[in-house]
Amino acid sequence: MGMQEDVLRFFMDRDQEGDAGASAEVVRRLDQYGPGRPQLYPLVLRFLTSTPALLAKHREDVRRVLRVIDEEKLMPPVSVVQVLSRNSVASVGLVKEWLMSRIKSAREEVDTDQKLIASYRTETEAKLRQVEELSDPDHPRVFHVTQCSACQGGLDLPAVHFMCNHSYHQRCLPQNETECPNCAREHGIIREIRRNNERLADQHELFLSEVREGGFDALSTGFSRGVLNLSRVEEAGSS
Ligand SMILES: [Zn+2]
Ligand SMILES: [Zn+2]
Repeated sequence: MGMQEDVLRFFMDRDQEGDAGASAEVVRRLDQYGPGRPQLYPLVLRFLTSTPALLAKHREDVRRVLRVIDEEKLMPPVSVVQVLSRNSVASVGLVKEWLMSRIKSAREEVDTDQKLIASYRTETEAKLRQVEELSDPDHPRVFHVTQCSACQGGLDLPAVHFMCNHSYHQRCLPQNETECPNCAREHGIIREIRRNNERLADQHELFLSEVREGGFDALSTGFSRGVLNLSRVEEAGSS
């Protein structure tokens, strides 16, 4: 993994041979090399939690290393617990403290997701209400827009009204335009996202390799893409 790792391992060996200053040197070198070489953090975490003396001396450093590992997602949480609990060195307190911080940040993520879900729901409900109104024959649509959405000038005849509440001078629209220019871009983006999701959902090999690497994250992303949609599975089975 390169010269920097060799240097760290050199000081780790010195520490085992009884050099009292060597472990501090490992930490100092980590601070120096770490930013460009994230793979060094798990190595140093393993080292600093290998003996009770090292842990006692470097408690703060262990906390710091754990923070970087979390922030940069350098190790999956299960692996961190495995490292911390592989011997009786890391105290229950340290493991607990780390787990608590993980749970706290996971909760914050869940909170953010829930807020997003709530806002999508409200948006969907509003759209559904709009669709209902538009498809109700007893509920005539009133166009009360007085400004052209293209040139912002006052509307006069002939005018074109779109159901999204945008109206235009006919002369301000490209000929044979059937889509509201103001909304077309947004619709295009949504169609693109859908197409992408559908395309990715059909790539089962890709999905499986993602699951192998990313576990639950990959599963939940796949779920949102519709990998696991029943209709899809049936289609795949019958084709
Ligand atoms: Zn106009
Ligand atoms: Zn529009």
